[in-house]
Amino acid sequence: MVSISLPDGAIKQISIGSTLLDIAQSISPQFAKKVLVGSVNGQLKDLSCIVEYDCAVKFYTWDEKEGKETFWHSSAHLMAEAIESLYPQVKFWVGPPIDHGFYYDIDFGAQHLSETDLLKIEEKIYSLLQKPVDFQRQNISKKEAIDYFTKKGDHYKLDLLEQLQDGSISFYHQGNFTDLCRGPHIPNTQFIKAIKLTSIAGAYWKGNEKNKMLTRIYGISFPQQKLLQEYLIYLEEIKKRDHRKLGKELSIFTFDDDIGQGLPLWMPNGTIIIEELEKLAKETEHKQGYFRVSTPHIAKESLYITSGHLPYYQESMFPPMEMDGTKYYLKAMNCPHHHKIFNAEPRSYKDLPYRLAEYGTCYRYEQSGELFGLMRVRCLHMNDAHIYCTKEQFASEFKLVNDLYLEYFKIFNVDNYVMRLSLHDPAKLGQKYINEPELWKETEDMARQVLINSNIPFVEVQDEAAFYGPKIDVQIYSAIGREFTLATNQIDFAQGKRFELNYTTKDNTAETPLIIHRAPLGTHERFIGFLLEHYAGRFPLWLAPQQVKIIPISDKFLTYSNQVLAQLLEQNIRCSVDTRSEKIGKKIRDAELLKIPYMVVIGEKELESQKLSIRKHGLTEGYSLEVQEFSTQLISEIKSKK
Ligand SMILES: [Zn+2]
Ligand SMILES: [Zn+2]
Repeated sequence: MVSISLPDGAIKQISIGSTLLDIAQSISPQFAKKVLVGSVNGQLKDLSCIVEYDCAVKFYTWDEKEGKETFWHSSAHLMAEAIESLYPQVKFWVGPPIDHGFYYDIDFGAQHLSETDLLKIEEKIYSLLQKPVDFQRQNISKKEAIDYFTKKGDHYKLDLLEQLQDGSISFYHQGNFTDLCRGPHIPNTQFIKAIKLTSIAGAYWKGNEKNKMLTRIYGISFPQQKLLQEYLIYLEEIKKRDHRKLGKELSIFTFDDDIGQGLPLWMPNGTIIIEELEKLAKETEHKQGYFRVSTPHIAKESLYITSGHLPYYQESMFPPMEMDGTKYYLKAMNCPHHHKIFNAEPRSYKDLPYRLAEYGTCYRYEQSGELFGLMRVRCLHMNDAHIYCTKEQFASEFKLVNDLYLEYFKIFNVDNYVMRLSLHDPAKLGQKYINEPELWKETEDMARQVLINSNIPFVEVQDEAAFYGPKIDVQIYSAIGREFTLATNQIDFAQGKRFELNYTTKDNTAETPLIIHRAPLGTHERFIGFLLEHYAGRFPLWLAPQQVKIIPISDKFLTYSNQVLAQLLEQNIRCSVDTRSEKIGKKIRDAELLKIPYMVVIGEKELESQKLSIRKHGLTEGYSLEVQEFSTQLISEIKSKK
């Protein structure tokens, strides 16, 4: 007998030769039907795996990440089988699961594949699913594996085999398909009830642009047809909310070849949003005692040598420009500039915590293939700040920063968020991590305690901290549940020393401050990209570039419309009159397409009664108010930021 410990602490005795599936069945046959993969002592294994020694066993269904990933990776094998039967000359590289689904990188030889071919492949997959088959594992010697793929003329798999150790190599078979894979997989293709090949793209072999371009086919699969339907609706919603599409439709930002890739131009509408966000940041930071500063966009090489950006971060910086025999770099981060401001005057413990904030413009070199709308750019405006404090002040400062995050989440209706607390590994002190064991322990404990006390959902990850201190990555989810990495909140006990920052203590000695780097609103680029998706372009009144559109029914009402306009402008409300000689229906439709929060229609009745016919975006019922009442209502709505 072998004894198995389960996650709930239960110990089970099973007979030697039992598989993971046997164990799942002994727990409950109902449960066993849902189980996709298991793990033995933390290592994922096929359910057909025989348990030969005492160990800890865990099972995963579709509801767990491990279950989904195994499901999707197995689906990639199934797709490969369909593709190989349609295009026998193909060669496969790798087919991993991703956040939503899977892909496979494939060499189709001379064949050029288009989106319509995906339907053909999909059909083939469904016909294969008519006769479900097991995923079977076969351990194989390196020599046999090499022979197999040499015969097949597949240099991609031979390349993979080169890095593998004899004795650790396995093939997986399903139907007529064999793949080199370490597994695990789901037991049988019958679990796959729905599959959709979503897109096709080019991908360089091994991600290297000097290599051949392979065809990457993306897909997603589900254990129920219903889940696929839901996913397709979600995809439609994502398309509608695509920040690049909305950014163009709503004239938020644009790109121009003569400016350069990854360098967005903010149009008047986008700039209004930027200014509102900065106003919000200014107000909230002011209440927390921050000072605003402003720093140049370039600095000398020596600054970045001190900061350590050169040479470690050089790849992400724009190449230097030379002037008067000195190299200057565009700034990739604001921190070094702020440290210089800290050091510009003598500081005492009475000055701490010293909080410097700047919506700093940074420039980062991203490969052109990595650029993506506003999400990955080469010029970014960061909601940056650095807090210089004593060890004793750290916990309360860190709490203030977290409160700021929570305050912003409330304002922007972000109710789904997670913080990832990345910790160091004590075994790597002095190598991967700065050798300050006490400080690590203290700051990590304090950060954890603050997160717990603030009721902030968080996960801890070992061995992921920055070199100079623990960090907290903030993940937020948009209204349709898509994840965005917002910003990093970092604790730093290295930069202070590098920049020889110090303050005079009570006892008149010099001490280095701790530094907190924080950027709760991330960058304008990423945050506005997020907001476009989150609100589907329907910005709340306080952020909306255009708040009110006044629509005269005909030119006859222009004079009165302009009077109303003047009254609203007087109250700082962003509005304009649609003076075009278009039909009223078109004017209304256009204002709706621009997602302007309020429309005011002015005709005979309005002129006579001196009241406005008001309609809120998205509502069919209108109402009427006097101009004064309307502007009071707008001002209070703007103030509430709802
Ligand atoms: Zn596999
Ligand atoms: Zn910083």
